[in-house]
Amino acid sequence: MEETQLKEVRTSSAQSLLEAAWTRVRDKLKSEVGEVEYRTWLQQIVLGPLDENEIVLYMPSRFLRDWVREQYGERLQSLWRHETPLVQRVELQVRKTSSSSETSSDGEEGESVPAQEVPQESTPDTTLLHLQESRNDLAAPLDPRFTFDSFVVGKPNEFAYACARRVAEKPSSQGFNPLFLYGGVGLGKTHLMHAIGSELIKTGNVSVAYMSGEKFMYRFIASIRSQSTMEFKKQLRSVDVLMIDDVQFLIGKDNTQEEFFHTFNALVDAGRQIIVSADKSPSDLSGLEDRLRTRLGSGMVADIHATTFELRLSILEAKARASGTHVPEKVMEYLAHKITSNVRELEGALNRLIAHADLVGRPVTLESTQDVLKDMLKAHERRVTIDEIQRKVAEHWNIRLTDMSSARRARAVARPRQVAMYLAKNLTSRSLPEIGRKFGNRDHTTVMHAVARVAELMEQDPSFAESVELLKRMLES
Ligand code: ADP
Ligand code: MG
Repeated sequence: MEETQLKEVRTSSAQSLLEAAWTRVRDKLKSEVGEVEYRTWLQQIVLGPLDENEIVLYMPSRFLRDWVREQYGERLQSLWRHETPLVQRVELQVRKTSSSSETSSDGEEGESVPAQEVPQESTPDTTLLHLQESRNDLAAPLDPRFTFDSFVVGKPNEFAYACARRVAEKPSSQGFNPLFLYGGVGLGKTHLMHAIGSELIKTGNVSVAYMSGEKFMYRFIASIRSQSTMEFKKQLRSVDVLMIDDVQFLIGKDNTQEEFFHTFNALVDAGRQIIVSADKSPSDLSGLEDRLRTRLGSGMVADIHATTFELRLSILEAKARASGTHVPEKVMEYLAHKITSNVRELEGALNRLIAHADLVGRPVTLESTQDVLKDMLKAHERRVTIDEIQRKVAEHWNIRLTDMSSARRARAVARPRQVAMYLAKNLTSRSLPEIGRKFGNRDHTTVMHAVARVAELMEQDPSFAESVELLKRMLES
């Protein structure tokens, strides 16, 4: 064969290797992030050329590129490396299709949507977008179980409850707009917001839109992609009451934050009610723009404190009563004593007990409780802290403790770090964002990926699984 021919053969086989690797990378990514997220952010990526060891991936807009880089950049790179030695780095670039230059005139700066990004009639993406955009009510459905009646009031939440009641009775009143509810995970923020919503809908001719910060962002992006941002804004600004749950999700999402800020101002100026929840007080939400934080804290700020034993017991009593299954007082005291982290877990424990009693047809006793909830209670017996986990893991793999939060990505430190995140998720009741913060302020998606990655590796590699199990046992004992 001649030299040029040989080269061609080599190139084409490298190309097909790359394409095959790309398919695997995409499949893995899809299974990690889920179908919806994948379609929203990642489906649009087009494989570009390989330059030295750097693979170029094209994104149809700057906005999407920045988003994908921020959220998935690290993960994309490690998946690629894992799949083929040909690729060591990933470069994300914007490439607009030729037809986009005819349809859009706003050039580099705007959020123009290239033709290729506007889905064809038959793709699943179209259905998704149409579904969202044609839905006139922006509101996510309210959970009918989350009412004021089913909310148990005690010292830690009485102020937040009173504020919620007040806003449900008289929305947009002076001093209560916006209403900002904050507190730790599983303490009843979402419950109270849904209760306000249901109450308002029940009592008056009020349009209510409830959505999570995440959903807000998702809708906003989808509207950009389907060129219906104006419509989205109009819909948002037409509601009487707008509730955004877990607004901390908007941290670092600058465009979405900006949009939320404008919506917020437009609504408040028009005398509409805003209700927002977060895991921290407005002043502690670092990463949100100052002007937004100021506005969020400018109405009523109500804090839900950690539960007390008395509140936990009252909640258990109320829920047991509602279930219709008899649960002895002794058992409830035991649970309220043992499970202190949040109401969601407490509820979960009680539900498990009740389901078990139903299934085996025997009453709930202290003995059956201890047996049924063995693993759950064990995790609460000794409170493992993230610091402890980081120390043990660093020791085990002989790395510096500071590397748990450093930016170093070398496998020798990145892998132990991932294991520590995995253990933190499994052994503590910390949320993904909380864990991320403990590891050098990493994003919650990084933690999610670490957890998935370690689980996967444990399946593939028995000796690795053994190390992780060993660490787990040491930490638990
Ligand atoms: P958050 O939004 O603060 O994370 P949720 O509102 O989702 O917490 O509450 C978690 C679970 O605990 C829900 O099922 C909710 O009904 C329940 N819950 C929380 N606080 C109370 C309470 N005071 N009374 C009754 N149920 C509660
Ligand atoms: Mg919530």
